[in-house]
Order: sequence, then C-alpha cells, then structure tokens
Amino acid sequence: METDATVTKEKKGNRLQPDCMTLTSNSTTGGDNEMKVPNTNENMEKCICGGCPTFTQNSLIGGFFCAMGKSEKVPEMKGCNCADCPLWAEYDLSKGYFCIHGASE
Ligand code: SF4
Ligand code: SF4
Repeated sequence: METDATVTKEKKGNRLQPDCMTLTSNSTTGGDNEMKVPNTNENMEKCICGGCPTFTQNSLIGGFFCAMGKSEKVPEMKGCNCADCPLWAEYDLSKGYFCIHGASE
C-alpha cells in the first residue's frame, strides 16, 4: 500500500503525470537506486523526449535530459514520457522530468 506511488509511476503509466512532481521530492519510497545515464550516442538515440507533452508544449530543444542535465528553458510540467523510454528500466530510473530536475545520478 505504501508503495502505491512507486507502482503507479513504474508500471501503469506510460506517462508520468504533472503531479508526479511529488515523487521527486518524496524519499519515503526508498527507491532511490537511479544510475547515472552514460552520455553515449546509443543512449541518445533511445530518447523519446521529443514526443512528450512537456517537450512539445514548452517548445524545448535538445532532449536526453537524464544524461545532459536540465533544460535551459524551465518548462511547465505537462506530463513526462520517460517511463516509456528503454533507458528507464535499463538504468533503474525513477524520477522523470529530468528536463526540470537535471540528470540522473
Ligand atoms: S529517460 Fe527520459 S530524458 Fe532520458 S533518454 Fe529517456 S526519454 Fe529522454
Ligand atoms: S525529461 Fe520527461 S518531461 Fe522532460 S522532456 Fe523528457 S520525457 Fe518530457
């Protein structure tokens, strides 16, 4: 029960909703095992930021924020597609919104 938030973000959803911001500052889930995402071309090609509503509605440029760090332009949260990205599972990512919060560590 207490892991609802974790289940929601990891399994149901394909898209992290704007209110998932709470997950980023909530350490009670204990699932902070994120790995640093290596900045490689191979990883960059897997990035699906370009199709995400936060990316498109804020007219962001770049992408691959989990490795490159936060967006220069601070976007308004409109949903995050990171949970659908192959790198999400590969690097045990859990937070999403790397365009706002910066690279995984
Ligand atoms: S996890 Fe998110 S930021 Fe990182 S490559 Fe995938 S879609 Fe892009
Ligand atoms: S990090 Fe997440 S919210 Fe930001 S552009 Fe990529 S998919 Fe969208």
